[in-house]
Amino acid sequence: MAANFKAELVGSFSTPCAENPTVAMMEAAFVHHAMDWRYINAEVQPDGLAAAVAGARAMGWRGFNLSIPHKVAVIEHLDGLGESASLIGAVNTVVRRDNKLVGENTDGKGFLKALQTVVDPQNKSVVMFGAGGAARAVAVELALAGASRITVVNRSVERGQGLVDLLNDKTPTDARLQVWQATFELPAETDIVINVTSIGLYPDLDARIDYNVETLKSNMVVADAITNPPRTHFVRDAESRGCRALDGLGMLVNQGVIALKYWTDRDVDPEPMRTRVEQVLGL
Ligand code: NDP
Repeated sequence: MAANFKAELVGSFSTPCAENPTVAMMEAAFVHHAMDWRYINAEVQPDGLAAAVAGARAMGWRGFNLSIPHKVAVIEHLDGLGESASLIGAVNTVVRRDNKLVGENTDGKGFLKALQTVVDPQNKSVVMFGAGGAARAVAVELALAGASRITVVNRSVERGQGLVDLLNDKTPTDARLQVWQATFELPAETDIVINVTSIGLYPDLDARIDYNVETLKSNMVVADAITNPPRTHFVRDAESRGCRALDGLGMLVNQGVIALKYWTDRDVDPEPMRTRVEQVLGL
């Protein structure tokens, strides 16, 4: 990188791949809005995280994203946390504010923004499959947005109970755990059904969420967090039952839109970002 590099820098501490959809998506926003910014992907190993954060500080980066395995480990290297990152206990976006590095979490906010295009979760009853890092982010934002009940369906009791306790202790929602040991039957009063597991994620394309599709009613909104492939069995089954179904690309694009707002203070257009992601994924 040249010493006289003029563009503002943001980036991600991640793992490399042939063409990174997030990099392509962020750069598409910069091109579309003629913004003099660059988004750079840097491969960072766990034992290099402290040095990488110090490097971003030293180079005056405006911020950066983090992917697994850095989302929790980064916290000790930051100067503070935003509200939902603090509740979730994980950071996917770091923002430089007044020369302090503040950890935020835009995964759940991105999901919420995509969901709100079809339904307002306020006073709604939600069933969510999964209790991992992304599920924590999604559930906390749904609870803060006023979802009245969140049923967490998860295979491991420990992770599921940890999330349910967090929701009940720190948010107004009524959260319950359903340990996932058999085919799940959706309660008739369910409004929103969400998959935030990795079941169906590439390369396990044939894997299916173990629930009774017959209990899915056409008034329910269904949302999948999986981006690759976007048209999972979960999404397609929902459509075939007459439900409104959202794929994971809306969450991906909107978490990027929110991160860009934090860094650049600009409201960028999500459309060219989604188009570029679809190109990279060959859709
Ligand atoms: P984690 O590894 O933290 O969590 C995985 C979750 O899936 C856990 O609840 C785990 O259950 C569950 N799970 C995995 N395999 C099975 C199985 N065979 N049977 C039952 N449960 C299973 O992953 P993340 O939370 O980071 O990611 C979850 C999903 O969200 C992924 O598909 C990821 O691609 C997607 N995602 C999408 C984003 C977007 O922008 N669209 C952003 C971030 C994530 P258990 O606790 O029992 O192990």
